[in-house]
Amino acid sequence: MTDKRKSLLYDFYKELSGRFTTTDALMSHALPLIADYANADSILFFNWDEKNSIISQRIMYEKGESYFLQEDIFVDAMSAEVIKFLDDGIAESPALDYPSVYVLLKWNTPLDSFKTLKSGRASRWMYGVLRVERFKKNKSFSSSDKEILLGLARELSVKMNLTEIDEYNTAQLRRAEALNDLAEVFATSMRLRDSIEEILKNIQKSFRFDRTSLYLTDSKSGKISDVLIVDLGGEVKRFKDGDDADGEYLSNICIDISTCYNAPSVSDRVLTIPLTLQNKTLGYLIFDNLLSRAPISQEDVLSLRQFSSQIALAIDNARLFEKVQELSNYDELTKLPMRRFFNDNFSQEIYRSKRFNLTFSVLMMDIDHFKDINDTYGHAFGDEVLKTVSEVIRNNLRQTDMPCRYGGDEIVIMFPRTTGEECLNIAKRLAEKVRIAKLPERFTRGENIKLSISQGISVFPYDGEEESGLIRRADEALYHVKQHGRASWALYSDIAQQNEKDK
Ligand code: GH3
Ligand code: MG
Repeated sequence: MTDKRKSLLYDFYKELSGRFTTTDALMSHALPLIADYANADSILFFNWDEKNSIISQRIMYEKGESYFLQEDIFVDAMSAEVIKFLDDGIAESPALDYPSVYVLLKWNTPLDSFKTLKSGRASRWMYGVLRVERFKKNKSFSSSDKEILLGLARELSVKMNLTEIDEYNTAQLRRAEALNDLAEVFATSMRLRDSIEEILKNIQKSFRFDRTSLYLTDSKSGKISDVLIVDLGGEVKRFKDGDDADGEYLSNICIDISTCYNAPSVSDRVLTIPLTLQNKTLGYLIFDNLLSRAPISQEDVLSLRQFSSQIALAIDNARLFEKVQELSNYDELTKLPMRRFFNDNFSQEIYRSKRFNLTFSVLMMDIDHFKDINDTYGHAFGDEVLKTVSEVIRNNLRQTDMPCRYGGDEIVIMFPRTTGEECLNIAKRLAEKVRIAKLPERFTRGENIKLSISQGISVFPYDGEEESGLIRRADEALYHVKQHGRASWALYSDIAQQNEKDK
């Protein structure tokens, strides 16, 4: 090899030493360089699909521009020319009336773990073809030109392999992150109406399908009643039964829901997962790559299947929430959820926390000397006080916190994923907000009425693993505060420790 050729190859190697996120990006960078080194007018890159004996034109570089194309050409892999080409790595193109050569690219591509399991191999050979053309210059390729092209092709093949490994690892990482994000959403969501959208957006963002769609069935009629679609740009579309749905899209999906049996059906570019809970079909999740034509990988299929039962649970929760709202299970006076609804969510939170090894806190509060307030200023004023305290609570909780009018002047709040220490801080904050809360003037007539609350806290799983135990211990902590001057707060674990010492 001449020194000139060596330094040219080294140049090329250096130019490709950066990191390319996709093989398309790599090609877009490499083709202009090759065109320059080979003194060519245009270069085309084809993917070689051996199984189907076609080469697909993917990228063309000409006059300073790269174009992405999709055009399939049949090749007879058994023909003498092709066999010789595979051997030599380079061949003149006989079909064109200007000088052009085909150059072989051959690299190792990583297989996903399913294919690896099946075949026992972690990678397989991939072939690609470059067609280098001199239609303007009309100067045939010398043997030295061909040597250079072979060298460049070898270099590019190595880089294809590295880029694909990189792409593969990035996809794995993305998948792991997606599952983590989803677990987080499930673990923190109590009011899931908006979270369904969050879940779909998360899936869409992480797995990058063309579209992620949720088809919900009506529990009575079994027909599709709601459709939620998130597209590549993260935009959400909703269709309700009776809406003039995007007919074109729906027919494009080419899925007759009635043909979805209870097993996930997978074609190459559409994945349908039925969402079932206790033998009840809630709907279907449909992922498709119909626009990009990219196949959906087996690993994506497995990840999403694993999560489908969680998604079904989330949807069931959301329905429960809506049903509860329909039944107006909120207390009129305080606008806080009532006990029955709270209990449902309490059991869900226990399930979730056990499942994900999480902690949560239960806070029980009671207004101090409320009976006296009633007796002194009247029941109507008592109602105002209850309203004011509830408003302070509603305005100072996170979306995931779950308050409840437990009875009389007792309010219980469940704080998912909150430690006792954190809950103490919340209690402190709530107490201060109640202390400075303004009561309606028309009742107080300028009198400065001091309002205070007492609060007791229990923590899952340390103070109890069941609802009744946790409520009882929060109540015991509250009782302790009431016995020791009110207007304060306490952790059950602290007073239990103190009681031990006092014994
Ligand atoms: P403590 O500080 O020990 O809690 O004293 P307390 O006076 O607040 O005692 P307790 O919590 O037992 O009193 C609850 C009172 O709340 C009794 C009941 O008449 C009153 N109450 C319960 N529900 C309502 C309501 O909806 N409106 C009004 N105005 N009062 C209510
Ligand atoms: Mg009270």
